[in-house]
Amino acid sequence: MIALATTVPTRTPSTLANAGLHADATQGAKLIALTFDDGPKPYVLMGTRTGKGVSSSSLLSLLDQQDVKATFFVMGWRLSKNADAKCRQDDGGVCREAAEEEHRRGHEIENHTYGHGDFRLMVKRYGEEWVLNDIERASTIIQSITGVKPSYLRPPDWTIWPELQKKIEARGYHLMTRSRDVPPALRDVDSEDYFCAGRSLAKCPKPSDYDYVLRNIAQRERQGVEQHILVFHELPQSVELLSRLIPELKQRGYSFVTLRKYMAEVSPSSSGTR
Ligand SMILES: [Zn+2]
Repeated sequence: MIALATTVPTRTPSTLANAGLHADATQGAKLIALTFDDGPKPYVLMGTRTGKGVSSSSLLSLLDQQDVKATFFVMGWRLSKNADAKCRQDDGGVCREAAEEEHRRGHEIENHTYGHGDFRLMVKRYGEEWVLNDIERASTIIQSITGVKPSYLRPPDWTIWPELQKKIEARGYHLMTRSRDVPPALRDVDSEDYFCAGRSLAKCPKPSDYDYVLRNIAQRERQGVEQHILVFHELPQSVELLSRLIPELKQRGYSFVTLRKYMAEVSPSSSGTR
């Protein structure tokens, strides 16, 4: 007790007692922000069927059943009226309506740009201003559905560099990143689910993506990290994966929250809610 008092001489006895009692409740919380890129895709969200006959279980139903609120990083173009025909044909419904449903069910919608063009390529081709406009264009159309301007931006394939990052941040966005420059709890954890869909499955984690995600989390836990931002895509395979993963992670003591809530708890300074 004496040793404790001398090592923390600036704290008053009451704050010392609080620190000891609660040990900072939020720091200790096992928290997961589930995020989904590249949608909205009606057949995955609602459980319909694409023009090519590809079907999926409903991701939104799964999240409802599990009482989980997630965060969707959508492509802005999908929300425009011009996308309706393509969305009906390729993705089994009107993408904008699927986004409205996400919002209605309490999920968060954030920015994955309008056109999903690679930043390096787009800057080379059209200049920096074009990329910044592409981001704003996505925010405007998302806000028309949610009433809220997105606070978070995940660049396509995480491609970014400091100069452009600063300009995006100056416009009020927090950038999602896999970079080791940020603390682990603020780093995106890539599920690599996109390797487990489509024709070539060679890169799909072995023995399974389920195992891979759990292994990743276990590894982070060994480093004392119990908060994770998990990145998935709107894919039928990911719905199946999460139907097993969510109950398992709940059993391990994790709570699932939207990204805004996650940031407010894990990193109040970058939560964008101030
Ligand atoms: Zn993407």
